Amino acid sequence: MGTGVATSKIRILIVDDDAESLELLWQWLALQGHDLMMARSGREALEKIHGSPPDLILLDLKLPPPDGFEVARALKKDPATRTIPLIVMTVRRDVQSKVECLRIGVDDFVTKPFHWDELDATVQAALEKRRLYTALENANQQLQVANSQLMKLSVTDDRTRLYNDRYLRQRLSEEFKRSMRYGTALSIILLDLDHFKRVNDRYGHDCGDAVLRQFGEILVENAREIDIVGRYGGEEFLMVLPNTDGIKAAIVGERVRKATEEYLFPFQDQIVRVTTSAGISSVPTNRDVREEEQFLRAADEALYRAKEGGRNKVIVDRASMPSKILDGDLSPIFNASYEEEPPRRRREESAPDFTGEKG
Ligand code: GH3
Ligand code: MG
Ligand code: MG
Repeated sequence: MGTGVATSKIRILIVDDDAESLELLWQWLALQGHDLMMARSGREALEKIHGSPPDLILLDLKLPPPDGFEVARALKKDPATRTIPLIVMTVRRDVQSKVECLRIGVDDFVTKPFHWDELDATVQAALEKRRLYTALENANQQLQVANSQLMKLSVTDDRTRLYNDRYLRQRLSEEFKRSMRYGTALSIILLDLDHFKRVNDRYGHDCGDAVLRQFGEILVENAREIDIVGRYGGEEFLMVLPNTDGIKAAIVGERVRKATEEYLFPFQDQIVRVTTSAGISSVPTNRDVREEEQFLRAADEALYRAKEGGRNKVIVDRASMPSKILDGDLSPIFNASYEEEPPRRRREESAPDFTGEKG
């Protein structure tokens, strides 16, 4: 509700079908400098409140239908109107009506005929309550925004905006346990930029940082929504691919390798080119893997062989390849596809609060 009581003019709705008390109230409240609206029936009141919510409502109980009780009930039930202070005007000391009103959640009462001091004090108290409530609501909202920003910060790496190492390990753990338990395929791709030291040496550390950031984007562009992409160390990255066997992971790794090789990394007025090597391991195909550390080590050893073999290469850990292929039957490769799920949208189209995984 935008009508904050913090703004200079307070909007008060008077709901009464009695011309005389309406007139009296109107004159008194107008004298106090308030902005006034009136309604002469329950229906008119509800229409006006929903059309333009006031800061305070003064409600008579006896009204052309719906009567004051029903109006109060409707207002206190609706989250959009529940917090507008509702002051009921009672004709005499009608205890039963008061009890009923309190049950409904009415905020306060004024008695007719009016005592102006009482009316004034009641209105001021209700407005103060409303002001505090609105302030609290705003603070709450700000807290929620800050909280979600904090959450994001604590799981992302500030240089690449991918998931950080801690979050990555946590998610890998979860996926690993799931795979061990249900036997579903899980692959990881460990990537390391080739001769990255040379990039830093030749173009400077800032350029190195920019390359890392853009490399992170290449990884995300080549991953699916459910994949988890993060920074694993200095210039090492990890992709965790659920429901993906070694062959499909190899397709992803090769795509990333090629995209990196072809990419012209812009930095200031220069173009930088880099390549990447990748090592892949996959469970449950690799039956030697019982623990997460072994899983990572298998990928790391494959990565080491890619480096040894001349870099700019993707190597799948031998035990992570289906035995059929090792026997020379290449049909799983020809039949493999990584397109069951659409690739991630390109970076430009994605949300600004981008992280390694979306949704
Ligand atoms: P290799 O092909 O064997 O991987 O060669 P390399 O030079 O990439 O490997 P090495 O591990 O010797 O060097 C890694 C370099 O990455 C050294 C380090 O300064 C750099 N590096 C690590 N983290 C960052 C970072 O956050 N920013 C920048 N600019 N450089 C980084
Ligand atoms: Mg390197
Ligand atoms: Mg390295």
